[in-house]
Amino acid sequence: METHKFDIVVLGAGPAGAASALFLAEAGFKVALVEQREFAKAGPSWVNGLHLDTFQKIGLAEPAGDEVEIRDFPVTFFSADFGERLDVAASGFTNIRMRPFVDRLHRSAFAAGVIGFDQTRVEGFDFRDERPQTVRFSRLTGGDSADRFSLSAKLFVDATGITGLLRGQVASLNQSSGSLNDADVCTALQQNSRISDRAQAAEFLKRHGVQPGTLVSILGTQGGYSTLSVQVSRDLSEVGLLAGAIKDARFLTGTQMVKKFCGENPWVGDKIHSGGGTIPLRHPLHRLTAPGVAVLGNAANQVFSVHGSGVMPALQAARLLANAVTDAADPGDESVLWGYTASFQKNLGAMLATYNLFRRFSQNLKSDDIAKMFRYGLMNEAMMLAGIKQVMPEPSLTSGLSILATGLRDPLFAANLVRSLAHMPLVYMHYLNFPEVHDQKKFAGWVQHAKNLAGY
Ligand SMILES: Cc1cc2nc3c(=O)[nH]c(=O)nc-3n(C[C@H](O)[C@H](O)[C@H](O)COP(=O)(O)OP(=O)(O)OC[C@H]3O[C@@H](n4cnc5c(N)ncnc54)[C@H](O)[C@@H]3O)c2cc1C
Repeated sequence: METHKFDIVVLGAGPAGAASALFLAEAGFKVALVEQREFAKAGPSWVNGLHLDTFQKIGLAEPAGDEVEIRDFPVTFFSADFGERLDVAASGFTNIRMRPFVDRLHRSAFAAGVIGFDQTRVEGFDFRDERPQTVRFSRLTGGDSADRFSLSAKLFVDATGITGLLRGQVASLNQSSGSLNDADVCTALQQNSRISDRAQAAEFLKRHGVQPGTLVSILGTQGGYSTLSVQVSRDLSEVGLLAGAIKDARFLTGTQMVKKFCGENPWVGDKIHSGGGTIPLRHPLHRLTAPGVAVLGNAANQVFSVHGSGVMPALQAARLLANAVTDAADPGDESVLWGYTASFQKNLGAMLATYNLFRRFSQNLKSDDIAKMFRYGLMNEAMMLAGIKQVMPEPSLTSGLSILATGLRDPLFAANLVRSLAHMPLVYMHYLNFPEVHDQKKFAGWVQHAKNLAGY
């Protein structure tokens, strides 16, 4: 079997893997990008809502042209019974067509010298002292025949999405964070359809008091973590639907929620495109690296779990990984890679893990409780905007007063809220103290305390 030698092999060519391959090639490494599907089908094929603030910091050109479906639209959040609402007029949210966006990342990566292998299946890894040395592949060449080859590298980047192919074979990565259970997984579907009856679509908007182009986001449709978003285009020609719920037999899946909405709203016409899957909602892996291995994107649970958004965290993580290994003679050296884990946990892990406490709290609420959160002012515009931007909310007098007022109006609800969320600032501070250098004893202590605070 022929072996091709690279500095770095990136597995998975979704947004995380494609961006990572690009940044690592720009840093001067010889990089291979391997995808099990055709490159043209790698990663998400649907429309994702992104806040574009961070693109410049990451060093990527902001999405433009056909990558953008609709830019900077208002968002109106509703409780499940539509009794409560909250308007965020200037959300800064932009809908990105992920297919052309990921295609652009691939093109840029290849232009920077990345060698691509698509429709390529991993057959196995060869390890020496727990550090991967080579990965063996087969690639169908037509009929029953397959091309077999292997790639050797100093660093293997696992960006294979929620399955985490290589992560699953490295004990130290699995042990520090534990495995996902269904309560930490969201099933989601995004669909765009034509509008078959504009008058009825306009009537839907009028009934909810919103303009065309507004994202109508209904929170807690089935209680807890379940959301349905409906966005009628500004020219009333199309509607975008996004639904997601925790993977639980008691709840409809994202696909079933969209189907139900279409059945109840006959103005939703033929499907233009749809796509879906599962999203990991747990805190990011405590440890993102092992000798010769770095984990990225969904494979590392790098997701803003409150609304299941993983694209911006994945792109930022790809940049942090490239920063950490640039100029290293051995980019797979654990002390070099630790720089990626540490900078990620301090810059993003702190925020993602803190919001994850809120996600787990909200998962146990009933639809009525979510309506109370609106009514008591516990969800206000500043907080919702912070969630859209994926940043920590500024502590404000209004939020403090809302909690106090809740205590007076509904002491039981307030007690539950405070008990569940009191650890949020502690989790945030703990992540800021992530060990700067790799010291196994210090790290084990850090993980134990993180688990205690998060209640995992
Ligand atoms: C319906 C839906 C709506 C969403 N909406 C949003 C949103 O609005 N905003 C947002 O930020 N996020 C959203 N997300 C989440 C977002 O799509 C993911 O977080 C993001 O795609 C993660 O990127 P990734 O590259 O880590 O993984 P993926 O996109 O899953 O890509 C992984 C790639 O690895 C490949 N692969 C897997 N196994 C192998 C293997 N053995 N060998 C080679 N290749 C392999 C896969 O084929 C795939 O191409 C949504 C998700 C869903 C399902």
